[in-house]
Amino acid sequence: MMIQVQAKIPVAVLGATGMVGQRFIELLQGHPWFELVALAASEKRGGRTYAEVTRWRLPNSEMPANVASLSVVPCRPEAMPGVKIAFSALPGEVAGEIEEAFAHAGMAVFSNAKNHRMDHDVPLLIPEVNADHIAVIAQQRKRRGWSGSIVTNANCSATPLVMALKPLQQAFGVRKVLITTLQAISGAGYPGLSSFDILDNVIPYIGGEEEKFESETLKMLGSWEEGQGFVYAPMIVSAHCNRVATREGHLECASIELKRDASPEEIIAAWENYIPESQHLTLPSAPVRALIYRHEIDRPQTLHDRDAGDGMTTTIGRLRRCPILSYKFVTLAHNTIRGAAGGSVLNAELCLSKGLIELG
Ligand code: NAP
Repeated sequence: MMIQVQAKIPVAVLGATGMVGQRFIELLQGHPWFELVALAASEKRGGRTYAEVTRWRLPNSEMPANVASLSVVPCRPEAMPGVKIAFSALPGEVAGEIEEAFAHAGMAVFSNAKNHRMDHDVPLLIPEVNADHIAVIAQQRKRRGWSGSIVTNANCSATPLVMALKPLQQAFGVRKVLITTLQAISGAGYPGLSSFDILDNVIPYIGGEEEKFESETLKMLGSWEEGQGFVYAPMIVSAHCNRVATREGHLECASIELKRDASPEEIIAAWENYIPESQHLTLPSAPVRALIYRHEIDRPQTLHDRDAGDGMTTTIGRLRRCPILSYKFVTLAHNTIRGAAGGSVLNAELCLSKGLIELG
């Protein structure tokens, strides 16, 4: 049953002018629990309105009128009194210390940056996959002396794979994964790659992406044990990450080795019948279906399937036997929604519903 929030909770977006920041703004419009009251970016924007410093890049919406006139403030906690939740769309170069300052100042930070993802006391959270990992937050606060907290999102390329693997890991066990990604240009932020570099091209290198993919997957699919900490999933992941000339949506081709053999029908049933525990909380941003399996021979496709479930559903298809490992399939998720801003908003909803956000 959905929880009722007495008064909307004041929230801020850090890195509000960028690709992910704009998605946050879009997704927070009319949110039943959160009210966007502060926008922050680099010091050079200071004092000017959001409309003055931002060109709206999202294709299917306009800059909301209520944010256009807001002043953009620097990323400092004292610049936004009263804010309880900070959604961070900051680049890794600066996110680490800024996010810590916000958590220290008592805010719940929901981050998209790489800096704290692999910390031993920070959850790397996808509610449909590892909601129980939020138990670590109490330890994080105690150890670091924070009244606030940091919760991170997965790398946008790890998200579609982890969503697809979770039901299979539960039902059959997964030993090995070999994955090739076709990642959209929005994943590189704005302005990202020059058009001259990416048009008519595929770039078989995204700095640091394969390493993040291979380690984050094991943390998310692992467990969190009181007294022991995070226990990584006993599986091997090998990733080839490629940038392709699509705008949004990361499509990925995976081959996996299962621990226990299963028929194609059993695997598809595991996906189609997957109802994670978090689904029972009916969180506002949770899609009706976390996973959709498409039976057409040529789906999922980036253009047609990235917006499934308002961009929060992962779409899988093309399951077939793999002559090297056990099976192969294709998985797809929207990188700036499910893999970034939407994922963070859902994480915040989960933490709020579990009483983990300091509202005093
Ligand atoms: P982006 O388009 O480059 O936006 C970066 C934002 O950070 C801008 O608002 C920028 O503000 C602000 N910023 C830059 N330097 C700053 C500083 N020194 N102090 C304060 N603010 C500063 O990047 P993005 O694609 O939105 O990505 C944001 C984060 O999300 C990154 O950590 C990225 O790895 C992660 N992420 C991205 C995606 C994706 O699909 N794009 C998916 C998952 C995770 P100014 O306008 O003032 O420079």
